[in-house]
Amino acid sequence: MRHGISRNNRFLVAIAGMTALAILLVGFAYAFTESERLDIQNDSQQTSDLWAAATRLAGDVNVQESAIDDYLFSADQQAVGRFEAAVTDETAVTAQMKAGAVELPGLLGAISELENAMATWHSSFAQPAIAAVEAGGGTALAPFTRGSSPDEEPINAALAELTVQLNLADGDLRLRDNALSVTRTEATVFGLGVLALSGVFSLWLVRRFGRTLQKESLRNGILNQFTEAISFAADDTAVAKANLEALVLLVHPDAGVTHVLNHSQDRAVPEAIVGGAIAEVLALKTLSTCAGMVRSSMYVSSDLAAPLSVHCPIYPAEHGTLACVPLVSGEAIGVIHLYWERPRALPVEIRRSVAQYVAHAALAIGNRRLLVALQGQASTDARTGLANSRTFDRALEKALASRTADEPIAVLMLDLDYFKDFNDRHGHPSGDEALRTFAEVLRSCMRDGDLAARYGGEEFAVILPGVDPAAAVTIAERIRARTESRIMSLAPGITDRITVSIGVAAAPTQALERVSLLRIADDALYQAKVDGRNRVAYLGDVVPGPAPTAAEADASPQATDNGQ
Ligand code: GH3
Ligand code: MG
Ligand code: MG
Repeated sequence: MRHGISRNNRFLVAIAGMTALAILLVGFAYAFTESERLDIQNDSQQTSDLWAAATRLAGDVNVQESAIDDYLFSADQQAVGRFEAAVTDETAVTAQMKAGAVELPGLLGAISELENAMATWHSSFAQPAIAAVEAGGGTALAPFTRGSSPDEEPINAALAELTVQLNLADGDLRLRDNALSVTRTEATVFGLGVLALSGVFSLWLVRRFGRTLQKESLRNGILNQFTEAISFAADDTAVAKANLEALVLLVHPDAGVTHVLNHSQDRAVPEAIVGGAIAEVLALKTLSTCAGMVRSSMYVSSDLAAPLSVHCPIYPAEHGTLACVPLVSGEAIGVIHLYWERPRALPVEIRRSVAQYVAHAALAIGNRRLLVALQGQASTDARTGLANSRTFDRALEKALASRTADEPIAVLMLDLDYFKDFNDRHGHPSGDEALRTFAEVLRSCMRDGDLAARYGGEEFAVILPGVDPAAAVTIAERIRARTESRIMSLAPGITDRITVSIGVAAAPTQALERVSLLRIADDALYQAKVDGRNRVAYLGDVVPGPAPTAAEADASPQATDNGQ
């Protein structure tokens, strides 16, 4: 999951980067074109100012010409004033034009030319004409006839040139404006393109993310089902089967087998198999040769046919893919082999899931084994290996509760005779040994379904389901006799024997519930002690037959009838 999402995250960052870049580029393009546009506006303001100034200049030239004419031919004194005002205006306009055209060299040249033409006209025509009138006219006026102003031509040419230059500047401004529009359109199209691309990319990512989530939820679904299955599993085999089934759903191997160590931990047994996998009972030595077991973690040979690939002695395939996954819960408890006929890569996230599933199974099997061991410890007497008093009481409650109407159940209470003396004579460790020996004797007299327990220090108790009082007395007698006849060697040259007194109680004849039944058995035991020990006592109606001799007791392994 984490992997899938982090890959998607990288795509997400790429989309965000692309979008940000597009926005930056478009923003930059707009900012740039906007400042350029302001420049163009400034320049076009200047050219229109120059157009106005050029028109005004042309007007000034006309005024000067007509004023000179009026002065020459009509001696109009006011014409000199008009002439001078036009000259002053011309000087001011020329200065203004030069200042405005600083950044337009073509125009500057045309303006200078106009200035020169005007100056020439002034010095060669206007000034001499005025001087001739002021000198009194006559012959002095001869060169200046109406319409004889030869030097106006350069002025007109300079004005025409100025017009051309202004037109050129205007054209240039229009070109720059058009170029700006094109740049802006291009930037917009590019930005929209990138945005559309990141939109498409985002959609793709959302779908891909959806697919990743779908796969994840599928995997989690399998994991949940598997976890639920193992919580209901009755034994290791059920856990191993559920685990292998889940792995099949997850990674679809062509074959698979789960080996689990048996309870004696001396061999590994194939507990779950799919697809005709190679499945044999394995000796511990063989199990430890598996690559996964050697590494204590999953080992995958992606292509067994490739040179240098590691082959597993437990699953010796020559081609395809093999995954060896150890089952470890504190210590190794087994191994799973998954096999694909064709070489395939197992992506990291899949390997993680496999390891997770297998860890769950290992934990379940390990915990189950721990529980069984703990339950065993809690219900067993460590010294003799018999059930303890708690287990005995529960079993008796259960047997009485599930007893059918006439079904008999017998209970024996047993207490070793003079055991304190035995300890005193031989020491406590020998006393312990005697307790274990007695437990053996007791076990040898039990059938399936009977239960023998160490009830207290040297007191024992037995449940005999389906056994009537007479048969119970016979069985008790057999126990007594076998105990008496069992000679224990306690130390070199030292042997001894113990005896046991037994009280018998019977349901339903004497009582129907546990406490009463045990009290009656205890009373009978007390009676056996009082009567001299090493004997069986039953306080009910059945009269026990003659006690078998020790030889008889050994010859008859188990009481299967009423012993009468
Ligand atoms: P009685 O015939 O009346 O039963 O005599 P007894 O000596 O067996 O009876 P008593 O109850 O006086 O003594 C029981 C003895 O059992 C005392 C105790 O030292 C011994 N005993 C109890 N549990 C153990 C044990 O786990 N190991 C050993 N070695 N002795 C035990
Ligand atoms: Mg005793
Ligand atoms: Mg006792």
